[in-house]
Amino acid sequence: MKTLYFDNAATTPLDDRVREVMNLNQSDALANPSSVHIFGQAANAALDNARETAAAEFGAEFRSIIFTSGATEANNLVLRGVLKAFYRSFRSEALIPPRIIISGIEHDSVIHTAQDIAEEGAEVIIIPAEKNGIVSAKKIIEAINERTILVSVMTVNNETGAIQPIAEIGKAIRSIREERVNMKSLFSNSPYPIFHTDAVQAVRYMSCKLDELNADIITVSGHKIGGPRGVGALIMKPIGKYGLGKAIQPIIMGGGQEFGMRSGTENVSAIFGFGEAIMIAGHEREKNIKRVSEIKRVFWEEVRKYFPKAAINGPAEKEWGRKSVPHILNVWLPGYNSADIVTKCDMAGLAISYGSACGAKSFKPSHVLTAMGLSEKRVRESVRISFGPGDTMAEAKEGARRIKKALG
Ligand code: PMP
Repeated sequence: MKTLYFDNAATTPLDDRVREVMNLNQSDALANPSSVHIFGQAANAALDNARETAAAEFGAEFRSIIFTSGATEANNLVLRGVLKAFYRSFRSEALIPPRIIISGIEHDSVIHTAQDIAEEGAEVIIIPAEKNGIVSAKKIIEAINERTILVSVMTVNNETGAIQPIAEIGKAIRSIREERVNMKSLFSNSPYPIFHTDAVQAVRYMSCKLDELNADIITVSGHKIGGPRGVGALIMKPIGKYGLGKAIQPIIMGGGQEFGMRSGTENVSAIFGFGEAIMIAGHEREKNIKRVSEIKRVFWEEVRKYFPKAAINGPAEKEWGRKSVPHILNVWLPGYNSADIVTKCDMAGLAISYGSACGAKSFKPSHVLTAMGLSEKRVRESVRISFGPGDTMAEAKEGARRIKKALG
């Protein structure tokens, strides 16, 4: 019996086309991309190729794509790097302590980093989500004060699939920045507030151009879009008249790779594969949306037949097209413990998860569902099922049947 893999929000299977270009690249580009000789140039050309693809897909400049070891590092770079740049360039009595606003449903790589930098003197404001898993743009905007240097709200939540009002928040932030410039005040000489969004779970199913999201910086990751694990990127936009260096400072120092923003020899074949995955995601987005939306609907219909009391955590089914991405479904199965569901499903040949993979082994109650105001009982009885373009309708039906089989 083939085990069904419905955990695409944790990692997507590597696309065969990506694997192929990575293998080619492994033999083609054997040298250090910073080396001057012909082999180094070949390796660097592979990086250029991926950077050009990312620049086109996200509507950014070539020099504003910074490859990292993944989204976790990219998110760390944003939060720590913006605070560092602030302390270097804009420290003044009136702006201290700098305020950083995040939502309560962010990935741990944002939440834990924010908590960490709070120890260094930043004031961190965490805005919870509404019951449907969507953060109120109004509440985020209301929390912005004159000391706010950074707002970070994810594009799509990785546990519920809820699409966040990023363009609306970004638009408000841009007008706040313009007002400050016109005021010729203390703040007219700063790039704040900077707006960052973690778009890791969005890229495959939503166009994530910087200007569509009204974002200054976005985070993306290879292994959520059919690319390899261990590679990601920060994609940035020069903010007003400020170069990136004034807005964000590197946190990893060394040979000055990635335009000085992230030192360390690049993982050439992973980045080359990531570029291919970004290109495929763009080309196949419409097709994937259609196919995976159907799979989610069929799966949910089946689950409801077996478990009439099951409920969705996140946007309601009638809002899925606008407010939820096709690939993620979070389900409450009243009376069943999350850890039990995941373990028993695993034995029944269905790989699903309990919240985010990064915290999954600890079986801690999900901070995302908790930040939505759901009861502790509900949080402890919920699981995440996440699909991919390779799944079939028959598998969706079989997956639901295996949950029933697992739980009896
Ligand atoms: N942000 C989000 C929304 C995620 O889903 C993940 C992966 N669970 C990450 C960040 C971390 O990504 P990476 O594994 O590339 O560090």
